[in-house]
Amino acid sequence: MKIGDIYQTADWKTEKHVPVIEAPDTVKADEVFNVTISLGKEIAHPNTTEHHIRQITLYYKPEGGKFAYQAGHFEFSAHGEDASGPNQGPIYTNHSVTCGLKLTTSGTLIASAFCNIHGLWESEKAITVQS
Ligand code: FE
Repeated sequence: MKIGDIYQTADWKTEKHVPVIEAPDTVKADEVFNVTISLGKEIAHPNTTEHHIRQITLYYKPEGGKFAYQAGHFEFSAHGEDASGPNQGPIYTNHSVTCGLKLTTSGTLIASAFCNIHGLWESEKAITVQS
C-alpha cells in the first residue's frame, strides 16, 4: 500500500467529492491569477457536523520537474458544532477557496480534498505559462 492508493478520483460532474479546479488554461509568466477550488459544483456535498469537507490542499508540479510544491492548504473548521448539539451551531465553513498564484513555468495544478467520512479525493488541471 502506498500513499497514492488512498487517493480516489473520478469525474467531478458525477462524483461530489472530486475537487473542481477553476483557473485559466494559459497565464503570463510572473502575473498573478486566481485559482478557485471547490467541491460539488454539479452534485452538492453535505456540510453537516457528521459529514463535511475538512480541508483542501493545492500542489503544483512543474513540467519536467521531479518534485511537487505545496501552493496552499485550506482548513474548513466550522460545521454546525454547538454546545447544544450537532448542527445546532451558527456557522458552517463552506468548502471552496480562492487564492492568487504566480508561475514561471508550465505545469499541473493538483488538488486534494478530504471528506471526514469518505476520505481523500484528487483532481488536476494543466496550466501553460507564456513568457
Ligand atoms: Fe463525503
